[in-house]
Amino acid sequence: MKYLFMTLAILAFASVVSADRLVRLYDVSPGSVTEMIEEGYDVANVDMRNGYVDIMLPERQLDQAALLSYNYEVLPREWGELLPENSDNAGYYYSPEENMAFWCTLADDYSDLSDTPVTIGQSYEGRDVYMIRMTSEIPGYKPPIYFSSLIHAREPGGNSVLIDFAMWLTSNYDGGDTRAAWILDNTTVYFVPIGNPDGYAYNMPNGGMHRKNMNYTLGDGVDLNRNWGYMWGYDDSGSSPNPYDPTYRGTSAFSEPETQVQRDFILDIEPIAAMNYHSSGQWLIYPYGYADNTYTPDQSTFVGWSAVMTAENGYFAGTCPECLYPVN
Ligand SMILES: [Zn+2]
Repeated sequence: MKYLFMTLAILAFASVVSADRLVRLYDVSPGSVTEMIEEGYDVANVDMRNGYVDIMLPERQLDQAALLSYNYEVLPREWGELLPENSDNAGYYYSPEENMAFWCTLADDYSDLSDTPVTIGQSYEGRDVYMIRMTSEIPGYKPPIYFSSLIHAREPGGNSVLIDFAMWLTSNYDGGDTRAAWILDNTTVYFVPIGNPDGYAYNMPNGGMHRKNMNYTLGDGVDLNRNWGYMWGYDDSGSSPNPYDPTYRGTSAFSEPETQVQRDFILDIEPIAAMNYHSSGQWLIYPYGYADNTYTPDQSTFVGWSAVMTAENGYFAGTCPECLYPVN
């Protein structure tokens, strides 16, 4: 482990001056994945069903992969960064501009179901964080449900899911899938599609694998999904006090503008349920995450929902310690 620590220290400084590459490690055990994350390796994707993980390594230090698995391959450059010809957008995904255009068009096309985007606060660099509210004109108490994505800037797959879901709701409302009408007639759906607008904007022209926000005061950004308040900094499992770590949790709970914005919005609308989309890992993770064998009073509800939600895709469902390891 000492050798791994030295490697990590070198990586932390090298990543500032050298392009990163995506490296696929085969034949790794779940335990060694946990060790890699604990050592501070930038683990971008875990696919235990097929027995591999993808990590980011500086271009000049690709031979370090041999320390982690005897069986690895350096993936094509375009897997880890956008190519010059599509650097002004997000490739198959929705760029910041394409997001805004989509949500505005949706509100135009379905003005009886969807509002136009509303700004709910600003990011560290002053970009708007916005939400979209969707419901039908049927009156009455309609409990709020909250969907969000792109709190990790390199995970636009989650954002595409939100957009697909919004399209499905609107296009099926009249005469399509009756569940869409049920949802919009009985609930108020809120979307925050880009939780980390600075990191996502950075990923457009500069190569797409930045994860954290753009607050470089102490390191290279704060992991916004480790900056929430409940059990913040409980221990160093799954969140790090090191400002250069991919899971750096910030100087205090809610130290970052982006988490403050979402916190205040959640306190305002008081959703009865929420879903925060990431990619990639093939898990459906429900609370609590901070320690082993800790469960919310809603445990049986989460178990029931996740059984339905993973029936088709085969994802593993559970608390974070059950899926991988404790994350506070
Ligand atoms: Zn994520």
